[in-house]
Amino acid sequence: MHSRVVIIGSGPAGHTAALYLSRATLKPVMFEGFLANGFAAGGQLTTTTEVENYPGFPEGIMGSVMMDKFREQSIKFGTTVYTETISKIDISTRPFKLWRENKEDQEPDTADALIIATGAAAKRLNLPGEDKYWQKGISACAVCDGAVPIFRNKPLAVIGGGDSAAEESLFLTKYASHVYVLVRRDKLRASKVMANRLLSNPKVTVLWNTEAIECKGDGELLNSLVIKNNQTKEIEELSVNGLFFAIGHTPATNLVKGKLDLDEDGYILTKPDSTCTNIEGVFAAGDVKDKKYRQAITSAGSGCMAALECERWLSEHFAE
Ligand SMILES: Cc1cc2nc3c(=O)[nH]c(=O)nc-3n(C[C@H](O)[C@H](O)[C@H](O)COP(=O)(O)OP(=O)(O)OC[C@H]3O[C@@H](n4cnc5c(N)ncnc54)[C@H](O)[C@@H]3O)c2cc1C
Repeated sequence: MHSRVVIIGSGPAGHTAALYLSRATLKPVMFEGFLANGFAAGGQLTTTTEVENYPGFPEGIMGSVMMDKFREQSIKFGTTVYTETISKIDISTRPFKLWRENKEDQEPDTADALIIATGAAAKRLNLPGEDKYWQKGISACAVCDGAVPIFRNKPLAVIGGGDSAAEESLFLTKYASHVYVLVRRDKLRASKVMANRLLSNPKVTVLWNTEAIECKGDGELLNSLVIKNNQTKEIEELSVNGLFFAIGHTPATNLVKGKLDLDEDGYILTKPDSTCTNIEGVFAAGDVKDKKYRQAITSAGSGCMAALECERWLSEHFAE
């Protein structure tokens, strides 16, 4: 199969790109993935409950329902969606070649242009009780979930010692009665400015040399963490109604490793104010290239940029 443009990935970035490209009559093909990178088609939002910060849904909307709507809109305007994962690509020459998972021995699909929107995944610790209370008091995104009622005026914990842990903890002080920051070492990795802001906030207590070892709750919601001081080996229970992981994300870039320029954390590098990668005709959008904002709306925004840049590039390089 040859397409003018193939989109790999099916989160807000991929679907927004699909919507723009299909409305531009470019008949995009999307590989939405089959449990690719551990996510159902639709991406990270399929793992959450209510999304309250995406404009247009004043009552909030379930993440999976929102992604069904994104998919419906992409298809309505002419996107062909395959529920398959792309396991290998060759972007060294054009047309670009793509192999579908479990069909690597077959002829590859080809495309004139590619949009990589494979997303990212928050790092977690797989503690006992973590799966049980995931999204029932445990989250990996303070900006997304911090304001929900179960966290209001309650003690919360953040795990991490870098800039994003400091940022997320400070953000949570707006809602929480208190924020405990669990830091594995005896110092923060965060920049001096962020560390000072964190340490001087009266609503924050940093627990040094401390690791969480279990998440506990009442069967419905998280209500405490078992924590251990890794120096004294002392174990205690910390009453908290929320736990936020701020230990980083892993971008889904195995597919493009060694083929596209990546930064030191594995995110795809794009030209400033653009979704263009170092390979002409290959664009990147969403969390796979964004370690700063990581929101549905910013991913959708960069999906739109990728589509517009791709459309222009195709019109300059290929006759209609
Ligand atoms: C629990 C949770 C709650 C969140 N809540 C909010 C919120 O309330 N508001 C908000 O704005 N943001 C929220 N976010 C963040 C938001 O989900 C992400 O910023 C956004 O989904 C990123 O979109 P994306 O399109 O870049 O990729 P993703 O959503 O990560 O989707 C990428 C998709 O591509 C697929 N894929 C990967 N590799 C391949 C491949 N090789 N072939 C085919 N398919 C592939 C994956 O399976 C996945 O379905 C939340 C995130 C999480 C984890």
